[in-house]
This record gives sequence, C-alpha cells and structure tokens, in this order.
Amino acid sequence: MSLLREIAELIAMEGPISVERYMELALSHPRYGYYHSRDPFGEHGDFVTAPEISQIFGELIGLWAVDCWARMGEPEKFALIELGPGRGTLMADALRAGRLVPRFLEAASVHLVETSEALRAKQRETLETAQWSGHSLAWHESFAQIPEGPFILVANEFFDALPIRQYLRTAQGWRERLVGLGPDGRLDFGLSGEPMPDIRLAAPQGAVLEISSAGLALSREIATRLVGFGGAALLIDYGHTRQGFGDTLQAVRRHEFVPALEAPGEADLTAHVDFTALGRVARAAGAALHGPVTQGRFLRELGIEARARKLKQKASEAQAAEIELATARLIGNGPAEMGALFKAMAFSVPSLSTLAGF
Ligand code: SAH
Repeated sequence: MSLLREIAELIAMEGPISVERYMELALSHPRYGYYHSRDPFGEHGDFVTAPEISQIFGELIGLWAVDCWARMGEPEKFALIELGPGRGTLMADALRAGRLVPRFLEAASVHLVETSEALRAKQRETLETAQWSGHSLAWHESFAQIPEGPFILVANEFFDALPIRQYLRTAQGWRERLVGLGPDGRLDFGLSGEPMPDIRLAAPQGAVLEISSAGLALSREIATRLVGFGGAALLIDYGHTRQGFGDTLQAVRRHEFVPALEAPGEADLTAHVDFTALGRVARAAGAALHGPVTQGRFLRELGIEARARKLKQKASEAQAAEIELATARLIGNGPAEMGALFKAMAFSVPSLSTLAGF
C-alpha cells in the first residue's frame, strides 16, 4: 500500500497526474514498482505469457531468428536482442533451437534490455543454467545502450508495458484523462480542465484515444538502427491493428482483472498495443514492415503443429495432452486463447523483403 500512499501524496501536492505518469510509477517505481518487486509470471503469479505456456514458442522464435540471419547473408557477428525478457525462458528456448545451426550461435552476442533487478537475476539463472555456453550475455537499461551493429530483436509482451496517455472526446473537444483524488481521498480518474488543441481527430463523444510516446519513440529508434546496420525486429503483443478509440488500460492480479487505480505496484498494468501507429513510425524511418498478422497465423506458418506432433511422439499420454492444450492456447481463436488476440509484426532493413511467418 506504500506506493498508493506515495502517489496520493504526490497528487495532493502537485495536482492530478497523467495516466502515463501513473503507469510509470506503478510499473517502474525503483522501490515499489510492479516489475521491481516480484516475479509476476506463472500459474502462481499474476499472469502467464506465451514462452511460459510452452517451450515451442521460444523454439520457433529461435528458428525465426536463424532464418533472418540466413536472409541477412549470415553476418559473422550480430546482436541477438530481447526487450523485457521476463524469466529468460524465451531466450533460453530460442538459443537451444539455435544449436541446430552452430555458426548462428557463434555469431550471436546476446543483449537483454531489462530494468528490473529481480528479473535480471532470474534471467541470469535461466540463461546460465541453460545447456549452452560460451556466449556473451549483457544486460542494458535501454535499447539505446546496446552497441551499434546488425541485430535481430525480439519483444514479446514488452510494448504493452510501456506507459500511455489517454484522451477523451467530450462536447468541448479532446481532454486528457488524469489521475487525481476523489472526495474520499482515493485515487480517481478525472479530466484536464483545458481541451487539447493539438488533437484534431474526428471521433464521437465518449471515444478514448491512447498514445504511447515511449512506444512510438522506441519503434522509431529500432527502425532507424535497422536501416543503418541491417537486421530485423519481431514484436508480439496483445493489441489491435485499427486505431482503437477505446480504453484498454487494464490491471491484472492473480489472473483476475482488478480496477486500474486500486493497488498500484501490486497488479500488472498494461494497455493494448497500437500496431498501426508503431508500424507507421517504423515505415517513416525507412524500415520495411511485415504484418501484423495474428499470433495464431504466425506460429502456424512457422510450423507449430508439426513441432507439437513431434514432441507428442516422445511424450507420455498425460504430457501429450498437455502439449495439445498448450498449443491450442497459443494459436486458438477463443477469448481465453492467444491466437487471435495477440498479433505479430516485424520491421526490417528494406533489403529483407520477406521474413518467415509473414
Ligand atoms: N517477454 C517476457 C516478459 C513480459 S513482461 C515474457 O513473454 O514472458 C514485461 C517485461 O518487460 C518484464 O521483464 C519487465 O521487467 C520488462 N520491462 C517493463 N518495462 C520495461 C522498460 N521500460 N524497460 C526495460 N524493461 C522493461
């Protein structure tokens, strides 16, 4: 509850804060921020991500990276980058699959972008005990700190953790949604007094517009480096492909939705990723765009069904049933499955006109 108190005191002193500032504090406060204070993943945590559902997810992404490297002309050195690696599971599975092509692994230096000390420690443990060795592993606070050169980048459920601002279309134009204090002293949503003259989008009253400056800036930065040095970047996330006009801010705690302002630092806070906007800035920076396609289609194209069949052949009956369930969860179209809700999109240097999976 300490972060809740800290935010309430901040607002009492300085006035209402943006949704962006609220998200930043809730997720990344150095002491109480959500990712800094815990390992949120798994059945006993707050939510489960694709690499934690099945090893096949990371393996296929590893093979996707090998394919990219081949299309890049097999550079002797490149950076294999992951943004927000969680427990390090995806990277460990990807590197294991990469052993099929030893020269790919020899060329790769692994760079992980992670701000949480707790998760860095977990990633180190996962990757150091993984059955591979001899690769350099480096951690960075941000993408900008990674040495320049050709690279292949993966970001799974990373952009949805970047803060957004929200704007509401009222009778007097667009107003920013703010977090202030209600009459009972609790955190409450409100609106900026002044309309935002810079937003000229036509939308019905009640529409909500979400903008992630951090996401757009990062997308531009990645694309600019790809154009300069070569390579590709794969983004997979919960998100939409049409301009949203909806409030997608959501808080999840122990696999249940909770009100977004109830327990900052104790629930995961995300917003859907606006793939159209991220793609637009990447293209404007000169990158080629691949997708977005649904996660289900992307994984099928990469051969998830054949890989699942192969794993099942070696498995017990119970394990085979588990593999089937996990695969369905990754590619199924149901509301509790990830196949249609999640999207995959890639950027690349324009000379890579096609990439596996798209
Ligand atoms: N990719 C992982 C974890 C997704 S959760 C998986 O699929 O399981 C988001 C991850 O991004 C966490 O590791 C979190 O600590 C990290 N993260 C969140 N915001 C960040 C930021 N601004 N900079 C770097 N890492 C961040």
